[in-house]
Amino acid sequence: MARLSLRGIKKRFKATEVLHGIDLDIGDREFVVFVGPSGCGKSTLLRLIAGLDPISDGEFTLNEKRMNDVPPSKRGIAMVFQSYALYPHMDVYENMAFGARLMGLDKPEVEARIAEAARMLRLNELLQRKPRELSGGQRQRVAIGRALVRKPEVFLLDEPLSNLDAALRSEVRLEIAKLHRDIGGTTIYVTHDQVEAMTLADKIVVMNLGRIEQVGSPRELFETPANTFVATFIGSPK
Ligand code: ADP
Ligand code: MG
Repeated sequence: MARLSLRGIKKRFKATEVLHGIDLDIGDREFVVFVGPSGCGKSTLLRLIAGLDPISDGEFTLNEKRMNDVPPSKRGIAMVFQSYALYPHMDVYENMAFGARLMGLDKPEVEARIAEAARMLRLNELLQRKPRELSGGQRQRVAIGRALVRKPEVFLLDEPLSNLDAALRSEVRLEIAKLHRDIGGTTIYVTHDQVEAMTLADKIVVMNLGRIEQVGSPRELFETPANTFVATFIGSPK
């Protein structure tokens, strides 16, 4: 079970406020997609949820427990970055084991979890390779696998497809949709691509300039956009 609640979330970098009060509820097992133009605050919000940056104002709860001051490794939340962020000197196995060990899991448990993630993501043949010996799609699968071994209740993905070419994009996109169904957790996915949002989401959150413009199903946003911004953004796939 993973229910997230964001109340009046603000983020300031020095004197500049970039999130102006985000209110949002996310239900268990939902696949929620954040969309919005570059610079609107999507990655910042994800980093606050993951605990990688402190919240300036407001409250974030996970299953009714206040998370504001809980360290990242204790939140039950794992994040996958656009740039993969793999450790270059470690092989695939070590990359996947690293976060699991930080959680304090013993060796057999780490091994079992890596075996399961490798099976799900078809990484078995690649476990001894270094990141530089992998294609972009393989690297992104490793980054997803590394998050998976932590068995997070909440999966955060920040533009996971943007460094992949078109063919790989649809392959990894399907992979992510399947994982969400198989794991039964809650997925929060960021993209600036309307088509990705419309095909993946149970619920879309449209952001602009540090605020939420509208929340709704793909169909609701398409048929009854709240304002011109939403209508233009959702209605104009690149
Ligand atoms: P998005 O992911 O939607 O493209 P970001 O969350 O990366 O947007 O950025 C939102 C705003 O916050 C931008 O104006 C960006 O310049 C600013 N910002 C992000 N991170 C920092 C930081 N560490 N220091 C200062 N400003 C930042
Ligand atoms: Mg971003």
